[in-house]
Amino acid sequence: NQYVLSNLNNLISDITLLYDGQESMNNIKIIKKLDTQIPSFFTYTSKLKQVFINMIKNAFEAMPDGGSITIATKFVEQDNAVEIAFTDTGIGMDEETLATINKPFFTTKETGTGLGLPMCYMIIEDLGGSINVSSKVGEGTTFVVKLMIAEDSN
Ligand code: ADP
Ligand code: MG
Repeated sequence: NQYVLSNLNNLISDITLLYDGQESMNNIKIIKKLDTQIPSFFTYTSKLKQVFINMIKNAFEAMPDGGSITIATKFVEQDNAVEIAFTDTGIGMDEETLATINKPFFTTKETGTGLGLPMCYMIIEDLGGSINVSSKVGEGTTFVVKLMIAEDSN
């Protein structure tokens, strides 16, 4: 849990390596779209890793019959920020679910804990970032994590 200089593209590549075996087993394809313009910056990399792994876990669980997860990074120069978008082609969420996902213990899964997303929101808010979600039932879901790059960190 250290504050270290990190490159989000490398972090995403490291994390997706962990899913090499699980992809074909679940008929899921992970597609990376990494913006090479992203600057490295100081952040709590292991905390971010927890968030990203949770996003990927939820995406897998939303696609019992397979599909794709696209992970896209983007440097938003005018805001001095980076965005990491996780888009799945899964079951999606209705309005009611969408309005409740950040509440602890809310789950639609038989063996879910409902603690994954609340943890993600807490970590990203602590880092001064934000999470935005859009979803459509039967089509899929996109979570966008936005992180500010501190002025003095690069
Ligand atoms: P859990 O995964 O244990 O249910 P989370 O906090 O991670 O808890 O997620 C809460 C709920 O948000 C899930 O039960 C599910 O209904 C919804 N959800 C989260 N991510 C997705 C996704 N990618 N696609 C569809 N629904 C999702
Ligand atoms: Mg979860």
